[in-house]
Amino acid sequence: MRPIHMVDLKQQYLHIKQDIDAAIHEVIDTVAFINGKAVVDFGNSLADYLGVKHVIPCANGTDALQIAMMALDLQPGDEVITPSYTYIATTEVIALLKLTPVFVDADPKTFNIDPVAIEKAITPRTKAIVPVHLYGQSANMEAIMKIAEKHNIPVIEDNAQAIGSDYRFSNGQTKKTGSIGTIGCTSFFPSKNLGCYGDGGAINTNDDALASKMRMIANHGQSKRYYHDLVGCNSRLDSIQAAILNVKLPLLDKYIDARRSAADFYDNAFAGNLKITVPFRSAESKHVFHQYTLQLEGVDRDGLNQFLSDNQIPSMIYYPVPAHRQQMFASFGSAACNLPVTDWLTERVISLPMHTELDQEQLEYISSKVLSYVNK
Ligand SMILES: *Cc1c(COP(=O)(O)O)cnc(C)c1O
Repeated sequence: MRPIHMVDLKQQYLHIKQDIDAAIHEVIDTVAFINGKAVVDFGNSLADYLGVKHVIPCANGTDALQIAMMALDLQPGDEVITPSYTYIATTEVIALLKLTPVFVDADPKTFNIDPVAIEKAITPRTKAIVPVHLYGQSANMEAIMKIAEKHNIPVIEDNAQAIGSDYRFSNGQTKKTGSIGTIGCTSFFPSKNLGCYGDGGAINTNDDALASKMRMIANHGQSKRYYHDLVGCNSRLDSIQAAILNVKLPLLDKYIDARRSAADFYDNAFAGNLKITVPFRSAESKHVFHQYTLQLEGVDRDGLNQFLSDNQIPSMIYYPVPAHRQQMFASFGSAACNLPVTDWLTERVISLPMHTELDQEQLEYISSKVLSYVNK
């Protein structure tokens, strides 16, 4: 059996090595390392894929969120509603910009931000809502957009884990995650569903004015060289990374299918086990399985984690400490927030290896080891 990894980037690379190597060498041959043709092409291809007007490539997913928030002209102390059960980047940029994170609880089935909790958290100072499409499944965007429109609050989608997923509204209309709110943000960190070979990210919107503002912010606040109208930052996607993404974007849907097949295998293997709850699949959203995360009941989670590791199977706890309990937010007093679902999930979840290269033998081995521990 091939060794099992959480994410098997090497094996994936070997299948596309010729194209990737040629794309990288083409950039080197043209020495267009910064803002080269590959970056422009990728921005256009991603806009087509997502069905949006504008894509602004940038340096990473965290910058994408920061630039989106900077473009909305939020003022110090403005409140931004965010889930606590997410990767830290989502909430960190809120505090970095001197805004106030307002942490709300998760839906126990999907792990995504709970729209009822959003509505309750809204005050006159709420200036943005940041849903995260966690583990690869869309948050309840119909409910979130309704609340946002009612209160006239912009929505920034954190689409770092769900690129390629979509969401079906009750009127039958389907949209890609990231293309529903005011602004969508994503990451091309190597292990993401569409990953490059370093850091990368992108922002998207259908709003022309916001798009040109975000383009300026990502480029030192200039639209004309050496004339700086806004305080911005330097956040670029390298041409080499864009060239790699140009090879991988056409494969994204195939990669998603591979992840979904692996998830189907796990789901079947664990079906009917009362100690294991497999990932919930909402009827409205296509789950793209950035992570395959189980909830355990009456199982020593850390014991399972160790047992798997002893059997050469990596597993991860995403996330052991929710954002509202992180020391970095101590000054907001957020540890006192009452987020029972978030705390409960934090103690029960475990994520199994999930990537595009898992084969039958590996999946059988992983699931049989999980079951042997859970049923012992
Ligand atoms: C990965 C990730 C980010 C940040 O992306 P980087 O490219 O690592 O900066 C933001 N939000 C979520 C939910 C993520 O998973």
